[in-house]
Amino acid sequence: MIQPTIAKKEVTLHILRSFGIHMSKKLGQNFLINEQIVRGIVQAADIISGEAVLEIGPGIGTLTQGLAEAGASVTAVEIDRHLLDVLAKTLAGYDNVRVVHGDILRLDIAREMKTEGYKVVANLPYYITTPIIMGLLEQRLPLKLLVTMVQKEVAERMVACPGSKEYGALSVAVQYYTEPQIMFMVPPSSFIPPPAVDSAVIRCTVRNQPPVSVYNENLFFRVVKAAFSQRRKTLLNALKTMGRPADEIKACLLKADIDGRRRGETLGLSEFAAIANTLE
Ligand code: SAM
Repeated sequence: MIQPTIAKKEVTLHILRSFGIHMSKKLGQNFLINEQIVRGIVQAADIISGEAVLEIGPGIGTLTQGLAEAGASVTAVEIDRHLLDVLAKTLAGYDNVRVVHGDILRLDIAREMKTEGYKVVANLPYYITTPIIMGLLEQRLPLKLLVTMVQKEVAERMVACPGSKEYGALSVAVQYYTEPQIMFMVPPSSFIPPPAVDSAVIRCTVRNQPPVSVYNENLFFRVVKAAFSQRRKTLLNALKTMGRPADEIKACLLKADIDGRRRGETLGLSEFAAIANTLE
């Protein structure tokens, strides 16, 4: 069966009207209406026929259709029950798509995705971009790639280098688990309704091994969080918020050969690792 391409303004409007769907701002519903962008995302994900893909927030099935046509075996998780009937209709012609009704932040993903080395491909709801990405990475799911549409500023934070104003705890975490690369920018006009911000598609290749050796990951991320918690403070003062005695922090910085007068945002991954490993 030949399905009409959903990623077009008139097709999307027709679907929304026929099902009486009112898009929810609260759920971050900005649907893609640009075929080229859908193709670009599918290409960035390097889909091999038959491989498993987890899609977060299929909406009315726009990106899902692109993934299904590329041959992916798609599990699409949608929170909005009003869209389930729509998806049943728009994706009816694809037997390689399974729609799951649920909240991605609460779902037991490991139970839904029983394969190894799958990919996550999504036009994310922007109100929960960071918890979704951090949740996927911290759960240590057997993922090999994430290709996601996010707010442009978030993509810039994910790839930021030490010393830049975009560099923060998100940059460290994403770069610890993956190798991120911004693929292309997407203007608001590619969505209905157009979001108030520019967007970017970012491709994060999950690392087999972190780039730095860390004895205690929990402590490493607590150091990172503390270092960025008060950006105007010196590293020494910021690290004191971890609740350890000042003398211990001072001694540890000395041992790690890091000047406590520096700001947290100037430290690279290996320096955060050195501090955490010395504290440990
Ligand atoms: N994939 C579609 C597209 O590209 O046009 C829709 C993308 S839209 C930016 C985000 C989608 O995520 C919406 O369909 C929204 O209902 C869904 N969503 C929002 N919060 C969610 C959550 N916690 N879990 C699963 N889906 C969610």
